[in-house]
Amino acid sequence: MKCLEFVNGDQMPMLGLGTWKSAPGDVYKAVKEALKLGYRHIDCAPIYGNEVEVGRALAESIAEGVVAREELWLTSKLWNDCHAPEDVQPALEKTLADLQIAYLDLYLIHWPVALKKGSLFPNTGADMLSLEEMPLAQTWSGMEAVLAKKLCRHIGVSNFSLPKLQGLLEVAQVRPEMNQVELHPYLQQPELLDFCRKNAVHMTAYSPLGSPDRPLALKAENEPLLMADPVIGQIAQQHGCTPAQVLISWAVQRETVVIPKSINPARMEANLAAASLALRVDDMEKIAALDRHRRYVSGDFWVLADGPYTVGNLWDEKKEEG
Ligand code: NAP
Repeated sequence: MKCLEFVNGDQMPMLGLGTWKSAPGDVYKAVKEALKLGYRHIDCAPIYGNEVEVGRALAESIAEGVVAREELWLTSKLWNDCHAPEDVQPALEKTLADLQIAYLDLYLIHWPVALKKGSLFPNTGADMLSLEEMPLAQTWSGMEAVLAKKLCRHIGVSNFSLPKLQGLLEVAQVRPEMNQVELHPYLQQPELLDFCRKNAVHMTAYSPLGSPDRPLALKAENEPLLMADPVIGQIAQQHGCTPAQVLISWAVQRETVVIPKSINPARMEANLAAASLALRVDDMEKIAALDRHRRYVSGDFWVLADGPYTVGNLWDEKKEEG
């Protein structure tokens, strides 16, 4: 498995298993199977509602000798209602207890969006806090504190735009080492990738297959299906592989970590194999031309009539295309 290297020499496997939308019973079987297949990196979050089952699968696999804790890369994320610095450690400790581990390899601020304590999803704007009321720099100080206590080995962010990341880099005592965002051929984010490269921030590509199992409420009408794209299909045919494998290989070739979600053993195996598939220069050029700035996870669920967030101020973009 190819790995990304961190400044301290730690190696993060470039392919991991996504777990959003994996129901508790399914995720237990999926994680056990993934570890047997050779996955060594699992992407988790408390908001996925399944960390207890992921933890059970991890503990059993370690006890059965399938894998050792030191061989694993485990990522999880701080939910939006725990952005106050004093709430970070208890949130992380709950994740550690659920995952049955002593430390995380990587802990991320899940969204640059703050909610009042105990409000997992906002019903009204009154459930939310603006970034003026709960500055990201303050949340970051809580992240730095749990790093210092060795409850995690690395800290980073998720869903951060270039200006938000830049703002954080200016005030951080410990620099964020990862930005996990949506990345795929329809949303290539070249400026953000370039900025991250220049600032030694790694990137993880989420929803690399276009997240087709998202709840209907999060889907746009007649949205384009990434895995059905004719150019991706043609490249897949030429390599004798599937469109999903082309998408995974593309992410790895751009030196981004990629975390496709699957609960299906055959697809998990195929996705793992794709990390070693080599696309040609002309394949990469054809895929580069597919960019259309199309978000599948638009973030519009954070936009409430009386709330502080808009799609524009979430992504720091004037207008959504695609
Ligand atoms: P995704 O990985 O792009 O797509 C998952 C879907 O693709 C599932 O329906 C899965 O079905 C299917 N699939 C998987 N492998 C396949 C293959 N080889 N051929 C055909 N279909 C295949 O979507 P995602 O879950 O949105 O993103 C991946 C992970 O990124 C998440 O699970 C989560 O860990 C992370 N994420 C993070 C954030 C964030 O805010 N930080 C947001 C979104 C996602 P089966 O399960 O039936 O195989």
